[in-house]
Amino acid sequence: MSLLELEDVHSYYGHSHILRGVSMEVEEGEIVSLLGRNGAGKTTTLRSIAGAEPPEVRSGHIQFNGTDITDLETEDVIMSGIAIVPEERRLFSNLTVEENLELSRISQNTWNTIRRKIGLSDPSGKSLDELYELFPVLEERKEQQAGTLSGGEQQMLSIARTLRLPNVELLMLDEPSEGLAPQIVETVMNAIETIAAEGTTVLLIEQNVQAALELADRGYVLDMGSIVYEGTAEELRNEDDLDQYLTV
Ligand code: ATP
Repeated sequence: MSLLELEDVHSYYGHSHILRGVSMEVEEGEIVSLLGRNGAGKTTTLRSIAGAEPPEVRSGHIQFNGTDITDLETEDVIMSGIAIVPEERRLFSNLTVEENLELSRISQNTWNTIRRKIGLSDPSGKSLDELYELFPVLEERKEQQAGTLSGGEQQMLSIARTLRLPNVELLMLDEPSEGLAPQIVETVMNAIETIAAEGTTVLLIEQNVQAALELADRGYVLDMGSIVYEGTAEELRNEDDLDQYLTV
């Protein structure tokens, strides 16, 4: 059984039929990349999994850990172990780096409720020390206001903050490399690789095909709301026909 499974998912924004039968799987421990050019439906896929509205998933099924999560609200999806780093970073720009990390910590009461509901024993997400080890630059800048960080540093803070959530089994990132200089892309991708090596499964949405396929085990290519290709990262790298679906 796969950790995440989408089966023939159709999603709509009002009358616009955007996802047209998306089926894909992510196995535990994998890094899977979802590729495709602007408007292909990548964010819509992520939002469909996350239970965000819009879009509306009108047919098909999404399973996580063997449970049907198709109709769950975002809060319950997160509670089940899926965490999302959105495209827009949504940081508190007037607060410091450390305050941003502190804020995202779930209160003890909330966590106790979650534990009772889903019967977990692991009480929390990553500690500040663990996150500073993963992103040393955040420790150097912990007193600095988030709004004054560079784009790359903000992306790192956004990822770090998400990892404060308890019980992250699947981390979904929406174009973490967007707008970043190549060297910074490498730093962010290396951090994602470390997160995966520590046991978190990753679904990575990217337009930066090269960076994504260096990291991923497998990939899916989305075009006009349908999966047009799937394969191992190596197969995707060697498939010339894919260029038509991947140019921005
Ligand atoms: P990008 O890299 O540009 O974000 P994407 O592959 O993530 O591309 P989506 O954002 O999923 O693409 O968009 C897929 C289609 O759905 C596009 O045609 C877009 O215009 C449309 N769409 C996205 N959000 C909405 C919305 N809130 N209401 C209506 N249509 C939307």
